[in-house]
Amino acid sequence: MLIDLSVQLDSDTPAYPGDPHIRIEQSERFETDGYVGHAATLGTHTGTHIDAPAHMIPGAPTLGDVPLDTFSGTGKVVNGLSLTAARSADIQPGDIVLFYTGMSDQYYDPSYFTNYPVMPDELVDYLISQRVKLVGLDTCSADNQPGFPIHKKLLGASIPIIENLTNLASLANNPFQVYALPLKFNLDGAPARVVAQVGA
Ligand SMILES: [Zn+2]
Repeated sequence: MLIDLSVQLDSDTPAYPGDPHIRIEQSERFETDGYVGHAATLGTHTGTHIDAPAHMIPGAPTLGDVPLDTFSGTGKVVNGLSLTAARSADIQPGDIVLFYTGMSDQYYDPSYFTNYPVMPDELVDYLISQRVKLVGLDTCSADNQPGFPIHKKLLGASIPIIENLTNLASLANNPFQVYALPLKFNLDGAPARVVAQVGA
């Protein structure tokens, strides 16, 4: 069974403060064109998306430079942003670690972007030392202070970051595989359809 961990992309999708909002316009109509099409304008960090190292580090790899197998693998869900919780999650090298904070319940509330938890420094160091390959968050950003030190540490260690995940509560303690494939923009980031495969 596949569980969708991605938010809906439409005109109501909120944007990180300062980022562009999604604009969707119909470009073709049944009445005039015989078919339907739309033009969508959106930022590279819209909705559930993946940050490549190039997002924060000049000259670092873009999404196109990141090996494709970085975006799928064994998932581990960690309840909260604490080192203790991460240590109890049996994190192995190459795991994709998703942190459940519950912030996704407030995705459409302004507080989602102003009052959210981030990882303590020792947790960031632990993830790097465990050689995880991808980190995911159900918050708007890995950082909540100027200079973006957490982004820079993870991305500097070649660990891309998934932001704005949802539905992590439904993973509970089941073993699962993650597929987090970003759109093939060779840029600093791109929206991704992130799913967890639970069971067969
Ligand atoms: Zn981002």
